[in-house]
Amino acid sequence: MTDIPETLVRRMPFPASASRAVGTPIQPSVVYASDDPDMLDAQYGGGVTGYTYAREGHPNADSLARRIDALEGAEGGLVVGSGMAAVTAALMGVLSAGDHVIGGDQLYGRSLRLMTLDLSRFGILTSLADPTDAAAIEAAIRPETKMILLEVVSNPTLRVADMPGILALAKARGILVAVDNTFTTPRGYRPFDHGADIVIHSVTKMLAGHSDATLGYVAARDAGLRKAIYDFAVTTGLTASPFDCWLAERGLYSFHLRYDRAEENAAALADHLAGLPGVRRVLYPTRADHPDHNRAVAILGSRGGHMVSFEVAGGRAAANALTRAMPDLAFAPTLGDIGTTLSHPASSSHRAVAAEARERIGITEGFFRISVGVEDIGLLCRDFGAGVAAAARAASE
Ligand SMILES: *Cc1c(COP(=O)(O)O)cnc(C)c1O
Repeated sequence: MTDIPETLVRRMPFPASASRAVGTPIQPSVVYASDDPDMLDAQYGGGVTGYTYAREGHPNADSLARRIDALEGAEGGLVVGSGMAAVTAALMGVLSAGDHVIGGDQLYGRSLRLMTLDLSRFGILTSLADPTDAAAIEAAIRPETKMILLEVVSNPTLRVADMPGILALAKARGILVAVDNTFTTPRGYRPFDHGADIVIHSVTKMLAGHSDATLGYVAARDAGLRKAIYDFAVTTGLTASPFDCWLAERGLYSFHLRYDRAEENAAALADHLAGLPGVRRVLYPTRADHPDHNRAVAILGSRGGHMVSFEVAGGRAAANALTRAMPDLAFAPTLGDIGTTLSHPASSSHRAVAAEARERIGITEGFFRISVGVEDIGLLCRDFGAGVAAAARAASE
């Protein structure tokens, strides 16, 4: 008899409320109880909507996915446990042994690794080509090419892909185009509006925006592809945590405000950096001195985004002096946080790339990438002024 209260603890219902919660509730339940086998049958058959087991789907993932769908003009997108889970599901859920996929040659580091080292172990053939040149992508096409994976703006040199050219040639040949839209965000570019087939996000970055949740999103225009991607993700367990989804949804409500402010700051900071002595070059897509300026304006309009890259003179000593002179900014290999973060590709994302190959694409020891946040722009300009001055002193020693 003494165990009755303990048993009741598990059986007691959640408090009822005639009014509804304004904030999204968190639903961490792993399993869902149905009334009887007929109902469970109907759930699996799609006759009634209902959750069964959290790996197969849960309300917080769906709540977040429907909101990102709305931003991207997508239908039935899937939230998964990381941006890389989304990239993996888009490639491995769709491609089979013998298929060929072309990737942009400046994709996110782990996406490049997946393309160059992992897919080949499963018999999927891959090539990399320069997405700023549609002719280079076209030259990489083979009879078995099934997909092209692109980022609109590359990391960290902020080159702009020839989206219209590549989308047109892919459409003419029946090749799928998957776009990792993490950098551009749906505020800068909406791939589905331009004919892309698959959209991918690292929700970890700007969409969630607070460096406290690791998540991804993948959506396909075609229902058959959506089902293939969903089945692969559920089978391989790429499931997102309800708590992370809840945090990301909270972040998403202010995404447009954060993005617009960060972008305004980024454009102003790029101009400020370009005027500082000791800065060799600044990369920002909509600046007139950007190598892809005309294409950036054609594709992105005035939306240059929240990322800026720049280069100072001097080697590692100058780079060390720069980050040490800006202790209030996180020197951290990420992006999309509400606060400004600074990364040094030569020692992080591109450390595995040989120095000559790195320098060929402009990633020297003095090269930095900034993910601009929403801070006061005057304060940011002062911070970077101090960092660049410290680097210049170190370079002249
Ligand atoms: C960060 C990032 C990823 C990977 O996302 P995770 O959430 O870290 O797994 C993929 N693509 C791009 C462009 C990214 O910036």
